[in-house]
Amino acid sequence: GFNCGIVGLPNVGKSTLFNALTETAAAQAANYPFCTIEPNVGRVGVPDPRLGELARIGKSQKIVPTTLEFVDIAGLVRGASKGEGLGNQFLANIREVDAIVHVLRCFEDGDVTHVEGSVDPVRDAETVETELMLADLEGLEKRQIGLQKRAKNGDKEAISQLVLIDPIVTALQAGRPARTAVPKGEEEAAKRLQLLTTKPVLYVCNVEEGSAGTGNAFSERVFAMAAAQGARAVVVSAAIEAEISQMPPADRGDFLESLGLPDAGLDRVIRAGYALLGLLTYFTVGPKETRAWTITRGMKAPQAAGVIHGDFERGFIACETIAYDDYVALGGEQGAKEAGRMRVEGKEYLVKDGDVLLFRFNV
Ligand code: GDP
Repeated sequence: GFNCGIVGLPNVGKSTLFNALTETAAAQAANYPFCTIEPNVGRVGVPDPRLGELARIGKSQKIVPTTLEFVDIAGLVRGASKGEGLGNQFLANIREVDAIVHVLRCFEDGDVTHVEGSVDPVRDAETVETELMLADLEGLEKRQIGLQKRAKNGDKEAISQLVLIDPIVTALQAGRPARTAVPKGEEEAAKRLQLLTTKPVLYVCNVEEGSAGTGNAFSERVFAMAAAQGARAVVVSAAIEAEISQMPPADRGDFLESLGLPDAGLDRVIRAGYALLGLLTYFTVGPKETRAWTITRGMKAPQAAGVIHGDFERGFIACETIAYDDYVALGGEQGAKEAGRMRVEGKEYLVKDGDVLLFRFNV
């Protein structure tokens, strides 16, 4: 599965947010596949309004969303790249996640100590990013030296590695994250370098309860910073989310309404995390369940089938395909069939977001 690591300085609300995420998921466990895999790893259902529509039209008994994992990564402090705090452990944990959810403290509270002495989320973001850049730089500079020796002796592979690494080292030395210096078309090769600052980032502005709907002056500065980086940001109040997570799901709508909030902040965090990873969703619809499945961009039909079961991929013959919009507009499978909007696709079909699929396969 895919995962997002929750990072940030101490006392910004990471654990509050992580606990709210996992408790919300636990409360929905009747419908949502959920588990706390380890104390700091939770798997949550990805909210998707299309599921309800499909289940209604397809008369499914239940809905099963696709899932995303969140990892609570504690221990980052200024100096982590030099081994301060949980230093190296922390960095190793980040190396393993697919994307970073960076929680920033945007609330004032005299009772909650700020490790840097004052509330300044843009400075905090830079502090964390600097530690990640220093860790990347240290690792890459070591590799660069080895590669340069090999390149001098005419090693072709070393030469091509340097074409990728040199501009990244230059960027990091100038205080810019590695993601700004990955040459076009080299994204996969860059991924294999396992850098911290090539991972996509979502900024989560943790604001006081009264600002949950509007954001505040601190979160506005974070949004400006994110825009300049081409990154995304969301506003949540971890305190409100913690409260919501303790309520029965049926009561949550009214509570959100009473606060004047259109939706739960956590839902936005989950959806934004999913979007951050560039993941696509396809659906299977049947009388038993309507279910969402996660694939990556560029997956063909057999691989997409393999997400359900390896046998589906090995024995793949074809798939019946209906686009989500057609399924809804034409009242389901029968209507889509009659209107000629159900296609039979083969091994080379590139699955699209929102496809409703039925696989034919040999066992
Ligand atoms: P972490 O160190 O980043 O995991 O931070 P925690 O989630 O443990 O939160 C640190 C402290 O800040 C706790 O006492 C929380 O209750 C408090 N806290 C977290 N979010 C908020 C918030 O939105 N408003 C206020 N006033 N306090 C918060």
